Amino acid sequence: VNRFEANLRIPGPTSLPDVVREAGARQMVNHRGPEFAVLQNSIVARLKTFYRTENDILIVTAAGTGGLESAIVSFLSPGDKVLAVSIGAFGDRFAKIATAYGADVTKVAFDWGKAADVARVREALLAGGPWKAVLMTQNETSTAVTNPIAALAAVATQVAPDALILADAISGLGAVPFETDAWGLDVVVSGSQKAWMVAPGLSFVSVSPRAWEAAATAKMPKFYFDLAAHKTSAEAGQTPWTPAVAVMFQLDAALKLMEQEGLEDIWKRHAAVGAAVRAGLTTLGFKLLADPAFASDTVTGAWIPDDLDWKTFNGKLRKYGLAVAGGQGALKGKIFRIGHLGHVTVPNILNAIAVLELALLEMGRPVTPGAAVAAAQVAALESMGAAVAEGIAR
Ligand SMILES: *Cc1c(COP(=O)(O)O)cnc(C)c1O
Repeated sequence: VNRFEANLRIPGPTSLPDVVREAGARQMVNHRGPEFAVLQNSIVARLKTFYRTENDILIVTAAGTGGLESAIVSFLSPGDKVLAVSIGAFGDRFAKIATAYGADVTKVAFDWGKAADVARVREALLAGGPWKAVLMTQNETSTAVTNPIAALAAVATQVAPDALILADAISGLGAVPFETDAWGLDVVVSGSQKAWMVAPGLSFVSVSPRAWEAAATAKMPKFYFDLAAHKTSAEAGQTPWTPAVAVMFQLDAALKLMEQEGLEDIWKRHAAVGAAVRAGLTTLGFKLLADPAFASDTVTGAWIPDDLDWKTFNGKLRKYGLAVAGGQGALKGKIFRIGHLGHVTVPNILNAIAVLELALLEMGRPVTPGAAVAAAQVAALESMGAAVAEGIAR
Protein backbone atom coordinates (compact mmCIF):
# COMPACT_ATOMS: atom_id res chain seq x y z
CA VAL A 1 0.00 0.00 0.00
CA ASN A 2 1.28 3.43 -0.93
CA ARG A 3 0.87 5.52 2.19
CA PHE A 4 0.74 8.67 0.05
CA GLU A 5 -2.19 7.38 -1.97
CA ALA A 6 -4.68 9.77 -0.47
CA ASN A 7 -6.51 11.09 -3.50
CA LEU A 8 -8.89 8.23 -4.24
CA ARG A 9 -10.59 9.30 -7.45
CA ILE A 10 -12.37 6.15 -8.51
CA PRO A 11 -16.14 5.95 -8.97
CA GLY A 12 -16.63 3.96 -5.77
CA PRO A 13 -15.75 3.10 -3.17
CA THR A 14 -15.33 6.82 -2.58
CA SER A 15 -13.26 8.36 0.19
CA LEU A 16 -14.85 8.79 3.61
CA PRO A 17 -15.02 11.99 5.64
CA ASP A 18 -13.32 11.55 9.03
CA VAL A 19 -16.59 11.67 10.98
CA VAL A 20 -17.93 8.88 8.77
CA ARG A 21 -14.88 6.71 9.36
CA GLU A 22 -15.07 7.32 13.08
CA ALA A 23 -18.79 6.47 13.14
CA GLY A 24 -17.92 3.04 11.73
CA ALA A 25 -15.77 2.32 14.79
CA ARG A 26 -18.69 2.56 17.24
CA GLN A 27 -19.59 -0.36 19.48
CA MET A 28 -22.29 -2.67 18.08
CA VAL A 29 -25.90 -2.51 19.20
CA ASN A 30 -28.49 -5.26 19.29
CA HIS A 31 -29.92 -5.32 15.78
CA ARG A 32 -33.19 -6.63 17.26
CA GLY A 33 -33.31 -3.88 19.86
CA PRO A 34 -34.76 -0.37 20.09
CA GLU A 35 -31.52 1.51 19.24
CA PHE A 36 -31.39 -0.19 15.88
CA ALA A 37 -35.03 0.54 15.15
CA VAL A 38 -34.49 4.24 15.84
CA LEU A 39 -31.38 4.25 13.65
CA GLN A 40 -33.02 2.49 10.70
CA ASN A 41 -36.22 4.55 10.85
CA SER A 42 -34.22 7.76 10.96
CA ILE A 43 -31.99 6.73 8.05
CA VAL A 44 -34.94 5.69 5.90
CA ALA A 45 -36.84 8.94 6.54
CA ARG A 46 -33.79 10.98 5.61
CA LEU A 47 -32.95 8.89 2.53
CA LYS A 48 -36.45 9.68 1.27
CA THR A 49 -35.62 13.39 1.15
CA PHE A 50 -32.61 12.65 -1.06
CA TYR A 51 -34.59 10.22 -3.21
CA ARG A 52 -37.40 12.81 -3.38
CA THR A 53 -39.93 10.13 -2.72
CA GLU A 54 -42.77 9.13 -0.46
CA ASN A 55 -42.31 5.49 -1.44
CA ASP A 56 -40.90 2.92 0.95
CA ILE A 57 -37.13 2.58 1.06
CA LEU A 58 -35.58 -0.71 2.13
CA ILE A 59 -32.01 -1.09 3.26
CA VAL A 60 -30.41 -4.27 1.98
CA THR A 61 -27.01 -5.41 3.22
CA ALA A 62 -25.32 -6.04 -0.12
CA ALA A 63 -23.25 -4.47 -2.87
CA GLY A 64 -25.21 -2.40 -5.36
CA THR A 65 -25.55 -5.45 -7.58
CA GLY A 66 -27.48 -7.15 -4.77
CA GLY A 67 -29.86 -4.19 -4.75
CA LEU A 68 -30.38 -4.63 -8.50
CA GLU A 69 -30.97 -8.35 -7.99
CA SER A 70 -33.54 -7.61 -5.26
CA ALA A 71 -35.39 -5.36 -7.73
CA ILE A 72 -35.55 -8.14 -10.33
CA VAL A 73 -36.54 -11.03 -8.07
CA SER A 74 -39.03 -9.16 -5.90
CA PHE A 75 -41.31 -7.81 -8.64
CA LEU A 76 -41.01 -10.09 -11.68
CA SER A 77 -41.80 -13.63 -12.75
CA PRO A 78 -40.00 -15.97 -15.16
CA GLY A 79 -41.19 -15.29 -18.70
CA ASP A 80 -42.10 -11.66 -18.03
CA LYS A 81 -41.26 -9.39 -20.94
CA VAL A 82 -38.65 -6.88 -19.87
CA LEU A 83 -37.13 -4.08 -21.95
CA ALA A 84 -33.59 -3.32 -20.80
CA VAL A 85 -32.17 0.01 -21.92
CA SER A 86 -28.39 -0.31 -21.84
CA ILE A 87 -25.68 2.24 -22.55
CA GLY A 88 -22.79 0.34 -20.98
CA ALA A 89 -21.51 -2.35 -18.62
CA PHE A 90 -23.95 -1.64 -15.79
CA GLY A 91 -26.96 -1.51 -18.10
CA ASP A 92 -25.79 -4.86 -19.45
CA ARG A 93 -25.45 -6.21 -15.91
CA PHE A 94 -29.03 -5.26 -14.98
CA ALA A 95 -30.24 -7.06 -18.13
CA LYS A 96 -28.09 -10.11 -17.29
CA ILE A 97 -29.60 -10.41 -13.82
CA ALA A 98 -33.11 -10.38 -15.30
CA THR A 99 -32.07 -12.99 -17.87
CA ALA A 100 -30.46 -15.18 -15.20
CA TYR A 101 -33.80 -15.36 -13.38
CA GLY A 102 -35.73 -16.26 -16.52
CA ALA A 103 -37.22 -12.96 -17.64
CA ASP A 104 -37.80 -12.57 -21.39
CA VAL A 105 -35.36 -9.70 -21.88
CA THR A 106 -35.15 -7.51 -24.96
CA LYS A 107 -32.13 -5.28 -24.82
CA VAL A 108 -32.06 -1.91 -26.54
CA ALA A 109 -28.38 -0.99 -26.53
CA PHE A 110 -26.58 2.19 -27.51
CA ASP A 111 -22.96 2.87 -28.46
CA TRP A 112 -20.78 3.22 -25.40
CA GLY A 113 -20.26 6.92 -24.71
CA LYS A 114 -23.74 7.82 -25.91
CA ALA A 115 -26.90 8.33 -23.89
CA ALA A 116 -30.03 6.34 -24.66
CA ASP A 117 -32.00 7.88 -27.51
CA VAL A 118 -35.58 8.44 -26.38
CA ALA A 119 -37.05 7.97 -29.88
CA ARG A 120 -35.33 4.59 -30.28
CA VAL A 121 -36.54 3.49 -26.86
CA ARG A 122 -40.06 4.46 -27.91
CA GLU A 123 -39.73 2.35 -31.09
CA ALA A 124 -38.46 -0.61 -29.07
CA LEU A 125 -41.37 -0.28 -26.66
CA LEU A 126 -43.87 -0.12 -29.53
CA ALA A 127 -42.25 -3.08 -31.32
CA GLY A 128 -42.76 -5.55 -28.47
CA GLY A 129 -44.56 -6.14 -25.23
CA PRO A 130 -46.74 -6.31 -23.31
CA TRP A 131 -43.94 -5.12 -21.04
CA LYS A 132 -43.85 -6.06 -17.40
CA ALA A 133 -40.86 -3.83 -16.68
CA VAL A 134 -38.44 -1.37 -18.23
CA LEU A 135 -34.88 -1.29 -16.85
CA MET A 136 -32.79 1.85 -17.09
CA THR A 137 -29.56 3.31 -15.75
CA GLN A 138 -29.49 6.87 -14.47
CA ASN A 139 -25.73 7.29 -14.62
CA GLU A 140 -23.67 4.73 -16.53
CA THR A 141 -20.44 4.55 -14.57
CA SER A 142 -18.58 2.50 -17.20
CA THR A 143 -18.95 5.17 -19.88
CA ALA A 144 -19.36 8.32 -17.74
CA VAL A 145 -22.70 9.17 -19.32
CA THR A 146 -25.84 10.41 -17.56
CA ASN A 147 -29.04 9.28 -19.24
CA PRO A 148 -32.02 11.60 -19.83
CA ILE A 149 -33.87 9.41 -17.37
CA ALA A 150 -36.84 11.75 -16.89
CA ALA A 151 -37.54 11.57 -20.64
CA LEU A 152 -36.93 7.81 -20.77
CA ALA A 153 -39.32 7.25 -17.89
CA ALA A 154 -41.90 9.52 -19.52
CA VAL A 155 -41.85 7.57 -22.77
CA ALA A 156 -42.09 4.26 -20.90
CA THR A 157 -45.07 5.56 -18.93
CA GLN A 158 -46.73 6.80 -22.10
CA VAL A 159 -46.20 3.73 -24.32
CA ALA A 160 -46.30 1.02 -21.64
CA PRO A 161 -48.28 2.46 -18.74
CA ASP A 162 -48.55 -0.92 -16.99
CA ALA A 163 -44.81 -1.56 -17.01
CA LEU A 164 -42.82 -1.02 -13.85
CA ILE A 165 -39.84 1.27 -14.24
CA LEU A 166 -36.78 -0.10 -12.44
CA ALA A 167 -33.87 2.30 -12.26
CA ASP A 168 -30.21 1.77 -11.38
CA ALA A 169 -29.29 5.10 -9.76
CA ILE A 170 -26.29 3.69 -7.92
CA SER A 171 -23.67 6.18 -9.08
CA GLY A 172 -25.74 9.34 -9.40
CA LEU A 173 -28.36 9.54 -6.69
CA GLY A 174 -27.21 11.79 -3.87
CA ALA A 175 -24.89 13.71 -6.20
CA VAL A 176 -26.86 15.00 -9.19
CA PRO A 177 -30.51 16.04 -9.63
CA PHE A 178 -32.88 13.13 -9.21
CA GLU A 179 -36.65 12.87 -8.71
CA THR A 180 -38.05 9.46 -7.86
CA ASP A 181 -41.72 10.46 -7.60
CA ALA A 182 -41.86 13.30 -10.11
CA TRP A 183 -40.30 11.05 -12.76
CA GLY A 184 -42.60 8.13 -11.92
CA LEU A 185 -39.85 5.64 -11.04
CA ASP A 186 -41.23 2.54 -9.35
CA VAL A 187 -38.03 1.02 -8.03
CA VAL A 188 -34.79 2.94 -7.56
CA VAL A 189 -31.54 1.35 -6.40
CA SER A 190 -28.53 3.12 -4.92
CA GLY A 191 -25.42 1.99 -3.03
CA SER A 192 -23.60 3.23 0.05
CA GLN A 193 -20.11 3.44 -1.46
CA LYS A 194 -20.86 5.96 -4.19
CA ALA A 195 -22.31 9.46 -3.61
CA TRP A 196 -23.19 8.67 0.00
CA MET A 197 -19.54 8.77 1.24
CA VAL A 198 -19.97 5.53 3.16
CA ALA A 199 -18.10 2.20 3.04
CA PRO A 200 -19.43 -0.50 0.71
CA GLY A 201 -22.04 -2.85 2.16
CA LEU A 202 -25.48 -1.29 1.87
CA SER A 203 -27.87 -0.96 -1.00
CA PHE A 204 -31.03 1.17 -0.82
CA VAL A 205 -34.14 0.33 -2.82
CA SER A 206 -37.24 2.52 -3.10
CA VAL A 207 -40.50 0.77 -3.94
CA SER A 208 -43.73 2.34 -5.21
CA PRO A 209 -47.21 1.07 -4.23
CA ARG A 210 -47.60 -0.24 -7.81
CA ALA A 211 -44.43 -2.28 -7.41
CA TRP A 212 -45.69 -3.75 -4.12
CA GLU A 213 -48.83 -4.87 -5.96
CA ALA A 214 -46.60 -6.65 -8.48
CA ALA A 215 -44.60 -8.21 -5.63
CA ALA A 216 -47.71 -10.03 -4.44
CA THR A 217 -47.74 -12.16 -7.61
CA ALA A 218 -44.03 -12.20 -8.50
CA LYS A 219 -42.77 -15.75 -8.92
CA MET A 220 -39.03 -15.45 -9.35
CA PRO A 221 -37.10 -17.57 -6.85
CA LYS A 222 -35.78 -15.49 -3.96
CA PHE A 223 -34.73 -15.66 -0.37
CA TYR A 224 -32.07 -13.20 0.87
CA PHE A 225 -33.14 -10.52 -1.62
CA ASP A 226 -36.88 -10.75 -1.04
CA LEU A 227 -37.89 -7.10 -0.54
CA ALA A 228 -41.30 -8.05 0.81
CA ALA A 229 -39.50 -9.77 3.69
CA HIS A 230 -37.43 -6.62 4.17
CA LYS A 231 -40.63 -4.56 4.31
CA THR A 232 -42.20 -6.80 6.93
CA SER A 233 -39.05 -6.60 9.05
CA ALA A 234 -38.67 -2.84 8.56
CA GLU A 235 -42.17 -2.31 9.93
CA ALA A 236 -40.88 -3.87 13.16
CA GLY A 237 -37.73 -1.71 13.06
CA GLN A 238 -35.57 -4.59 11.90
CA THR A 239 -34.03 -6.26 8.89
CA PRO A 240 -34.66 -9.90 7.96
CA TRP A 241 -30.95 -10.81 8.24
CA THR A 242 -28.13 -9.31 10.27
CA PRO A 243 -27.49 -5.88 8.75
CA ALA A 244 -24.08 -4.20 8.26
CA VAL A 245 -24.56 -2.21 11.47
CA ALA A 246 -21.21 -0.39 11.25
CA VAL A 247 -22.01 0.81 7.76
CA MET A 248 -25.37 2.07 9.00
CA PHE A 249 -23.59 4.08 11.69
CA GLN A 250 -21.50 5.57 8.92
CA LEU A 251 -24.54 6.32 6.80
CA ASP A 252 -26.17 8.12 9.72
CA ALA A 253 -23.09 10.35 10.02
CA ALA A 254 -22.83 10.91 6.26
CA LEU A 255 -26.49 11.90 5.98
CA LYS A 256 -25.87 14.53 8.66
CA LEU A 257 -23.11 16.02 6.53
CA MET A 258 -25.31 15.93 3.46
CA GLU A 259 -28.18 17.60 5.32
CA GLN A 260 -25.85 20.34 6.57
CA GLU A 261 -24.69 21.04 3.02
CA GLY A 262 -28.14 20.77 1.46
CA LEU A 263 -29.25 18.90 -1.63
CA GLU A 264 -29.01 21.81 -4.06
CA ASP A 265 -25.51 22.74 -2.92
CA ILE A 266 -24.46 19.10 -3.27
CA TRP A 267 -25.72 19.16 -6.86
CA LYS A 268 -23.86 22.44 -7.55
CA ARG A 269 -20.64 21.06 -6.12
CA HIS A 270 -20.84 18.01 -8.36
CA ALA A 271 -21.59 20.18 -11.40
CA ALA A 272 -18.49 22.27 -10.60
CA VAL A 273 -16.15 19.31 -10.09
CA GLY A 274 -17.51 17.67 -13.24
CA ALA A 275 -16.85 20.80 -15.29
CA ALA A 276 -13.38 21.13 -13.77
CA VAL A 277 -12.39 17.54 -14.58
CA ARG A 278 -13.60 17.79 -18.17
CA ALA A 279 -11.80 21.11 -18.77
CA GLY A 280 -8.61 19.85 -17.15
CA LEU A 281 -8.48 16.57 -19.07
CA THR A 282 -9.31 18.26 -22.37
CA THR A 283 -6.56 20.84 -21.85
CA LEU A 284 -4.13 17.99 -21.16
CA GLY A 285 -4.98 16.68 -24.62
CA PHE A 286 -7.20 13.77 -23.61
CA LYS A 287 -10.28 12.98 -25.66
CA LEU A 288 -13.32 12.33 -23.51
CA LEU A 289 -15.48 9.28 -24.06
CA ALA A 290 -18.88 10.73 -23.23
CA ASP A 291 -21.10 12.66 -25.57
CA PRO A 292 -20.62 16.19 -24.12
CA ALA A 293 -24.38 16.77 -23.99
CA PHE A 294 -24.72 13.87 -21.53
CA ALA A 295 -21.37 13.98 -19.71
CA SER A 296 -21.69 12.74 -16.16
CA ASP A 297 -20.94 15.02 -13.23
CA THR A 298 -19.92 12.06 -11.05
CA VAL A 299 -17.40 10.27 -13.28
CA THR A 300 -15.36 11.15 -16.38
CA GLY A 301 -13.82 8.74 -18.86
CA ALA A 302 -10.94 9.62 -21.19
CA TRP A 303 -9.31 7.65 -24.01
CA ILE A 304 -5.73 6.55 -23.38
CA PRO A 305 -3.74 7.88 -26.38
CA ASP A 306 -2.04 5.15 -28.43
CA ASP A 307 1.39 6.61 -27.76
CA LEU A 308 0.96 6.89 -23.98
CA ASP A 309 2.20 3.91 -22.02
CA TRP A 310 -0.60 3.42 -19.51
CA LYS A 311 1.36 1.33 -17.03
CA THR A 312 4.12 3.92 -16.73
CA PHE A 313 1.65 6.78 -16.55
CA ASN A 314 -0.57 5.14 -13.94
CA GLY A 315 2.54 4.20 -11.92
CA LYS A 316 3.42 7.88 -11.73
CA LEU A 317 -0.11 8.83 -10.71
CA ARG A 318 0.06 6.28 -7.91
CA LYS A 319 3.47 7.56 -6.82
CA TYR A 320 1.91 11.02 -6.44
CA GLY A 321 -0.99 9.61 -4.46
CA LEU A 322 -3.68 9.66 -7.11
CA ALA A 323 -5.81 6.57 -7.72
CA VAL A 324 -7.92 6.53 -10.90
CA ALA A 325 -9.96 3.69 -12.41
CA GLY A 326 -9.43 1.76 -15.62
CA GLY A 327 -12.03 0.82 -18.22
CA GLN A 328 -14.61 -1.94 -17.90
CA GLY A 329 -15.69 -4.60 -20.37
CA ALA A 330 -14.93 -3.61 -23.94
CA LEU A 331 -13.20 -0.44 -22.72
CA LYS A 332 -10.63 -2.23 -20.57
CA GLY A 333 -7.17 -0.89 -21.42
CA LYS A 334 -8.65 1.76 -23.68
CA ILE A 335 -9.88 4.39 -21.23
CA PHE A 336 -9.29 5.57 -17.71
CA ARG A 337 -11.92 7.05 -15.44
CA ILE A 338 -11.85 9.68 -12.75
CA GLY A 339 -14.51 9.40 -10.09
CA HIS A 340 -15.77 12.70 -8.68
CA LEU A 341 -18.67 11.92 -6.44
CA GLY A 342 -19.38 12.02 -2.76
CA HIS A 343 -16.60 13.45 -0.60
CA VAL A 344 -14.98 15.60 -3.30
CA THR A 345 -14.27 19.29 -3.62
CA VAL A 346 -12.98 21.56 -6.38
CA PRO A 347 -9.56 21.75 -4.64
CA ASN A 348 -9.40 17.91 -4.58
CA ILE A 349 -9.96 17.96 -8.33
CA LEU A 350 -7.39 20.71 -8.93
CA ASN A 351 -4.93 18.46 -7.13
CA ALA A 352 -5.88 15.49 -9.33
CA ILE A 353 -5.51 17.54 -12.51
CA ALA A 354 -2.16 18.90 -11.28
CA VAL A 355 -0.93 15.35 -10.67
CA LEU A 356 -2.01 14.21 -14.14
CA GLU A 357 -0.20 17.23 -15.58
CA LEU A 358 2.92 16.49 -13.52
CA ALA A 359 3.00 12.86 -14.63
CA LEU A 360 2.66 13.84 -18.30
CA LEU A 361 5.42 16.43 -17.95
CA GLU A 362 7.62 13.85 -16.28
CA MET A 363 7.06 11.56 -19.26
CA GLY A 364 8.21 14.31 -21.62
CA ARG A 365 4.79 14.99 -23.10
CA PRO A 366 4.25 18.46 -24.59
CA VAL A 367 1.91 19.95 -22.00
CA THR A 368 2.12 23.48 -20.65
CA PRO A 369 2.70 23.48 -16.89
CA GLY A 370 -0.29 24.91 -15.10
CA ALA A 371 -2.54 25.18 -18.15
CA ALA A 372 -4.84 22.29 -17.24
CA VAL A 373 -5.16 23.45 -13.65
CA ALA A 374 -6.01 26.93 -14.91
CA ALA A 375 -8.66 25.58 -17.26
CA ALA A 376 -10.13 23.50 -14.44
CA GLN A 377 -10.21 26.52 -12.11
CA VAL A 378 -12.02 28.65 -14.67
CA ALA A 379 -14.51 25.88 -15.53
CA ALA A 380 -15.32 25.31 -11.86
CA LEU A 381 -15.79 29.02 -11.19
CA GLU A 382 -18.01 29.45 -14.23
CA SER A 383 -20.06 26.45 -13.19
CA MET A 384 -20.55 28.06 -9.78
CA GLY A 385 -21.68 31.27 -11.45
CA ALA A 386 -18.60 33.33 -10.63
CA ALA A 387 -17.61 35.96 -13.17
CA VAL A 388 -14.10 35.24 -14.38
CA ALA A 389 -12.47 38.42 -15.72
CA GLU A 390 -12.43 38.87 -19.47
CA GLY A 391 -9.12 38.27 -21.17
CA ILE A 392 -8.05 35.45 -18.88
CA ALA A 393 -6.67 32.66 -20.97
CA ARG A 394 -8.85 29.56 -20.96
C1 LIG B 1 -21.10 0.68 -8.84
C2 LIG B 1 -22.29 0.45 -9.70
C3 LIG B 1 -23.03 -0.74 -9.67
C4 LIG B 1 -22.61 -1.95 -8.89
O1 LIG B 1 -22.38 -1.75 -7.59
P1 LIG B 1 -21.57 -2.86 -6.76
O2 LIG B 1 -21.66 -2.30 -5.40
O3 LIG B 1 -20.19 -2.89 -7.32
O4 LIG B 1 -22.27 -4.14 -6.93
C5 LIG B 1 -24.14 -0.86 -10.46
N1 LIG B 1 -24.53 0.14 -11.25
C6 LIG B 1 -23.85 1.29 -11.34
C7 LIG B 1 -24.33 2.35 -12.26
C8 LIG B 1 -22.70 1.48 -10.57
O5 LIG B 1 -22.01 2.61 -10.66
